[in-house]
Formats: sequence, C-alpha cells, structure tokens
Amino acid sequence: MVDVDYLVIGAGAMGMAFADVILTETDATIALVDRRPRPGGHWNDAYPHVRLHQPSSFYGVNSRVLGTESIDRYGWNQGLSELASGSEVVGYFDQVLRQDFMATGRVQYFPLSDYEGDGTFRSLVTGERTALMAGKVVDATYMNVVVPSVRPPLYDVADGVTCIPPNRLGEPGMLPGDGAVVVGGGKTGMDAVLFMLENGVPADDITWIRPRDQWCINRNRLQPMFEFFHDAMGSQAATLKAIAESQSMEDMFERFDEAGVLLRIDPDVTPTMYRCATVSELEIEALRTVTNVVRLGHVHSITTDQITLDDGSIATSPGTIHIDCTADGLAQRPAVPIFDGAKITLQSVRTCQQVFSAAFIAHIEATHDDDETKNGLATVIPHPDDHLDWARVTLAHMKNSARWQQDPELAEWLSRSRLYGLSGSSYPEIVEPDKLEVMATIAEFAMPAAMRLQEYVDAMD
Ligand SMILES: Cc1cc2nc3c(=O)[nH]c(=O)nc-3n(C[C@H](O)[C@H](O)[C@H](O)COP(=O)(O)OP(=O)(O)OC[C@H]3O[C@@H](n4cnc5c(N)ncnc54)[C@H](O)[C@@H]3O)c2cc1C
Repeated sequence: MVDVDYLVIGAGAMGMAFADVILTETDATIALVDRRPRPGGHWNDAYPHVRLHQPSSFYGVNSRVLGTESIDRYGWNQGLSELASGSEVVGYFDQVLRQDFMATGRVQYFPLSDYEGDGTFRSLVTGERTALMAGKVVDATYMNVVVPSVRPPLYDVADGVTCIPPNRLGEPGMLPGDGAVVVGGGKTGMDAVLFMLENGVPADDITWIRPRDQWCINRNRLQPMFEFFHDAMGSQAATLKAIAESQSMEDMFERFDEAGVLLRIDPDVTPTMYRCATVSELEIEALRTVTNVVRLGHVHSITTDQITLDDGSIATSPGTIHIDCTADGLAQRPAVPIFDGAKITLQSVRTCQQVFSAAFIAHIEATHDDDETKNGLATVIPHPDDHLDWARVTLAHMKNSARWQQDPELAEWLSRSRLYGLSGSSYPEIVEPDKLEVMATIAEFAMPAAMRLQEYVDAMD
C-alpha cells in the first residue's frame, strides 16, 4: 500500500505544473500515475513538426525555464520569442521529472499505469494492481486532449484512399505528387499547410477544407519580454479601447481586425471560430497563399474519387494525400468545482493557459484551507469554441485577474510566476512617457470594457 498526500492522475503538462508548485511550496508527497511511458502527455503523440504556438518562456512548469529565452532569427516566427518544438517539450518534462521531482525524494512515479478509480491503478506491463492511500486525488486528465494520431478519422475512408495523420507527412513519399487535401481549419490544419509550404509543396497543390474560419491571436502581441512592451501592452490597451468603444460584437471584431489584435486568414470571410490558435503575421501571409479553400461544412466520407461534405462534394483522386487534422485538442468540457473535498479537478482558470492554471490551482491549494475560498479564487474558464465565446472567456478572465490582484499575497505570487509571463507582471518599473501613456489607456478603458463585455454576455446567455 502506497501512502501519499496527493495522487496525481496524468503526467501531462497540467499534472506536471501542479506537482511542481506543490513540491516547491509544501512538504507534501506525491504519486504521479500515467498510462504513457514518459511525462508530457499528448506531446508524446504530436506530429514531428509541432511547436508551441505561444512563446516557450511561459510554458512548462513554474520552477524551470523552458528553452533559452532567445528570439528566433529565421522562419515564420522571426523576430519573436522562441517556440519549443514538441520533442523539446517532451525532453523538458523528462528533465523536470528526473532532475527536479525525483530528486526531492517525495515523488513516486508510476508510468505505464492505468488509473482505475478508488485509489487503484494497474500496471500496463505486468497487469499488477496497486492501491494507494492518498490524502487528495488530483484529476489531471479532465481536459481530455485528443490529437489526430491517436484515433482514426471520424468520417468514412474507403479502401484505396490515402488518409494520414499529420505525423506521417514527413515520411518519404508522403509529400503529395497528386496534391494534398488538408481536412480541418484549426491549428493542426494550419501547421500541416505550413509544413508543406516550407518543404516546397506549391500552394496550388493544396486544397484546404475549412468548415469554419477562425479568429487567431496575433503572436506578435503575446511577447512577454520588456522589449516588446508596445506590442504586448499596446495590444492590451487597443483591445480594451476597442471593446469599450464598440457598438456591437461585430463592430468589436472589426476593430480588433483593424488594430491587428486578432488575425484572420481570409480578409473577405468573417470568422465564426475562436479556439486560441496563435499565429505570427508571417504565418498568416503564408497561409493566405493557399486559395483552394473548401467551405462546405464537415467531411462525411472520402472515396478514391470524391469527398462528401455537409453541403456538397468535391473531386479527389487515388494519388491525392488526405491529411486528417480534425481531432479536438481543446475540448469544451463542462465546468466542475476544482476543489471538492478530497478531489481536485484541474481546469483552466486563465483563457487557454492550462499550465499556468494548474500551477495557480496548486498555489491556492498550498495556501488556503477551505474549498469555498479556494473555488472563489479559481472560477473555471472553459475553452472557447466560437467567436462569441471570445467575449465570455475574456470577461471571465478579467474577473479572475481583478480578484487575484486584490489579494496582496496572490498578486505577489503572480508577479514571480514565470507561467504568468504575458501579463507584464515581471516588467521593471515603467517611467518612460510613451509607456506610461499605454498604461494609462489600459487603466482608462479596463472598467468600461468589462461593462461592455458584460452587456454582450448577458445578451447571449
Ligand atoms: C498541437 C497542440 C499545440 C498546443 N500548443 C499549446 C501552446 O503553445 N500553449 C499552451 O498553453 N497550450 C498548448 N496546447 C494545449 C495543451 O493541450 C496544453 O498546454 C497541455 O499540454 C494539456 O495538458 P494536459 O495535462 O491537460 O493533457 P494531456 O497532455 O492529455 O495529459 C493527460 C495525461 O493523462 C494521462 N491519463 C489519462 N487518463 C489516464 C488514466 N486513467 N490513467 C493514467 N493516466 C491517464 C494521459 O496518458 C496523459 O499523459 C497545445 C495543444 C496541442 C494539441
């Protein structure tokens, strides 16, 4: 019988970020259980060309820097903070586990172990069951990330059709001779298109099935370093001003577009999707070169000569490569209480910032006693899906942030948290007049923007 303070189910990014803060801020013991052979969760199954879409500098766990905090000098991310590759992320979590967690002597790690409930897990190697006595059980699996390589396409694929997950795109013979069809308009679809363009596939050889177009976050505006002050804080100021002065949600998105806060691939199409995809302006330019875009809804089936969709069909051929980019890496899970007696369910408390959220939840757990207070500080922000969700998650995010800043201890912790990086909390004192002007704009429009968002949300819900 293993006896621990916390049983963390899932050694993905959230489980690791939670465990890190518990180990740093308490003397507690942890059992970390995961089906996979290594920590890092879904990053172990990602396509080889995957990278973070946000800067490395605020991803991973709080206590260890990810990457070298440098600026990319080439490629579509040039001029911006580096983005870790999938293999770097996996290597990083391996280091965190071995060099940091295990060295404390307070962590027991059980890889290749399937949690079955009631404190029991089964080894996938020996089949042996282990029962645990745990003070609290931390569910770090609830967000349910799915990537294309771990399941077949959700539409029918006939014999003779080449339909691959993006993981196989780099294999010999997989770059298309007869053209490629990318199925899915999300970030994975974008990555597949960019990978092909980068490797010499002509844009005209690519057909892109995009049931919905999306608003993307402009990565230029998500740069935490002080040298990017005007991009990051200027963007916050522009966002708040645009919200406060908007007359409707449509008007608000038009203002974001004009200010470059949000980006869209096709300037003639009004996006209806928002899933926190983060791209650079150079990536958007490259994606725009693909003009064979199919907007006929979702795919139902692919045969050797036809693709059938919700609203019509298009021709294909036996030599065409179809790339399935449809898995849901950002599922909209119902919000449940994070702190519930002996159970903690990790969820987002900052929009699409899962690792920060897990670290924050651990800090709340380490510093407060009763569930009501803890849940009061950590309102769940379910992942957004459509453009209307932008208003919901942004308002919820503003309310959470305001609450945290009212608590001096929390505000101080946030200012030291590397995962909170893009907030500007680590900036030196601001004295330059142009920067002070930006901060004044933020202060002026924060409350009117929150009130306007509240109106939009009330009208929707
Ligand atoms: C392509 C891609 C790019 C992304 N880029 C970014 C980014 O730049 N920035 C960002 O903030 N987020 C990004 N994300 C979001 C990303 O999903 C989160 O940052 C984070 O990795 C989610 O981790 P997780 O721990 O919630 O889930 P997972 O990685 O799915 O981890 C859950 C773990 O639980 C284990 N598990 C599940 N059930 C059981 C069980 N019964 N027993 C034992 N173990 C179990 C699984 O094996 C898995 O290892 C990206 C996502 C994708 C798909």
